Amino acid sequence: ITIGTLLERAASDFPQHEAMVSAHQGVRLTYSELLRQADEVARGLLALGVQRHDRVGVWAPNCAEWAVLQYAAARAGAILVNINPSLKAAELLHVLRASGVSTLVLAPELRGTSLLGLLESVSVHAPQLLHTVLLGWEAPPGMLSWHDLRWAGTGRGLQAELLGRARSLRPGEPANIQFTSGTTGLPKAATLSHRGLVNNALNVGRACSYAERDRVCIPVPLFHCFGSVMGSLACTSAGATAVYPSDCFDASATLAAVEAERCTALYGVPTMFVAALEHPDFSGRDLSSLRTGIMAGSPCPAALMQRVQTEMHMRDVTICYGMTETSPVSFQTSAEDAAELRVATVGRVHPWLEARVIEPHTGRTVPRGEVGELCVRGYSVMLGYWGNAAATAAAIDQEGWMHTGDLAALDVHGYCRIVGRSKDMVIRGGENIYPREVEEFLMHHPAIADAQVFGVPDAKYGEELCAWVRLRAGYRGIGGEELRASCRDRIAGFKIPKYWKIVDSYPTTASGKPQKFRMREEAVQELG
Ligand code: ATP
Ligand code: MG
Repeated sequence: ITIGTLLERAASDFPQHEAMVSAHQGVRLTYSELLRQADEVARGLLALGVQRHDRVGVWAPNCAEWAVLQYAAARAGAILVNINPSLKAAELLHVLRASGVSTLVLAPELRGTSLLGLLESVSVHAPQLLHTVLLGWEAPPGMLSWHDLRWAGTGRGLQAELLGRARSLRPGEPANIQFTSGTTGLPKAATLSHRGLVNNALNVGRACSYAERDRVCIPVPLFHCFGSVMGSLACTSAGATAVYPSDCFDASATLAAVEAERCTALYGVPTMFVAALEHPDFSGRDLSSLRTGIMAGSPCPAALMQRVQTEMHMRDVTICYGMTETSPVSFQTSAEDAAELRVATVGRVHPWLEARVIEPHTGRTVPRGEVGELCVRGYSVMLGYWGNAAATAAAIDQEGWMHTGDLAALDVHGYCRIVGRSKDMVIRGGENIYPREVEEFLMHHPAIADAQVFGVPDAKYGEELCAWVRLRAGYRGIGGEELRASCRDRIAGFKIPKYWKIVDSYPTTASGKPQKFRMREEAVQELG
């Protein structure tokens, strides 16, 4: 099965059922309507001359057209290149060149970018880009509008060609170039197959027991697997409804959409759940329709899990662990797992995937329960980093194991505990410190809403710990010294951060993941 045939199946099984709601645009599409629009756009792409495996870029915030294009590109046999809408023109050019995009669909409201200037520099610096399509009804000279593209696809003559392409495509062919989040540096371009994406979505949907009745609120970006695979494709695999509350994450719009659309599931990275819980609108919204959802992308503190399950009614919320390079999910908790397993672990390995934990230097499997580098193998591992064989060979070994760069331990029952990124581990005076453990501890402090702990270089100890914390409402005015003093005798002295900073927000990726490398840079500068 491919992404294109997945939609075909949903349109035949649930033709009149709502496939998606784009709340901020007021757009609602049934599955048969979604297939009809996707095929219209796919024929438009054929009319532009898009060939199998040509790269079609999408540079837009969440919207109905984004979702339509995901299926359209797949049905035309093209490779969709998801581009973060908050990139600046120079970064966009880099992405377009690196992935060889020949057709780019973009939103008119992209911040701070002059379209004409962009067009000029694109034609100079990315000559392989043949067509730019502007979402909406009109486009300046040299560009097509989304409307033009759909119009080009109304010619019936192309339908036979389209069906031929959609049905001859093999599951192992590339469907998507997804960029990683850029949590640890520059984003990397992972090439993912239809087989990897569709089956991963199916398994995510099963773990959440999605069915036609489900309405899944997706405030996470579509330009990442979290939105486009665990969100859109998982809904399509189960005949459920995808609800996009806003163009980019907005706690207030998310809460409003859950209430208005009676959503049964809600997605987010942990910081989004914190934002929703702390939002002034929170107490006034009826969220009782929620039963499940997914928290993923970064560790979920125990205290947050507790609040999500009780205050947000998401009893069956699951935790996923994954990475872009594995399409993306490899571990997930299940609704049957006890609450403590849902915070202490990321569940067990997904069906048809294998996992092992190795000693980074020797590559030997560590004994059960011990910490090492997590490796994953199976259908969902990427085909490779686009155009970068060296990086691919460094990430996927000769036996097909994807080296995740995450430290983890697997217990005897197969439950996986993520300890942190190998890059984030702090070595202070010879002691290994896992920042996650310190963050968990700090989160129990009544004044602390959220904490990020990382290492900064230190002449005496090699590294020292630095904590950036966000305070809970009602505790403003507390300082770092006070917080530090309150840690004494509660956690080993070497794990108590030396440097503290009270902040309102963290530098994050566009998907909301805290970027410790930026915090570290800033802290190092402040410390002189
Ligand atoms: P980059 O590779 O560009 O630095 P990134 O690794 O954050 O960015 P993604 O592929 O979006 O990009 O994220 C995968 C990573 O997110 C994992 O390798 C892991 O470190 C982290 N992660 C994902 N899920 C969880 C989870 N449930 N608990 C802890 N960490 C998680
Ligand atoms: Mg990564």
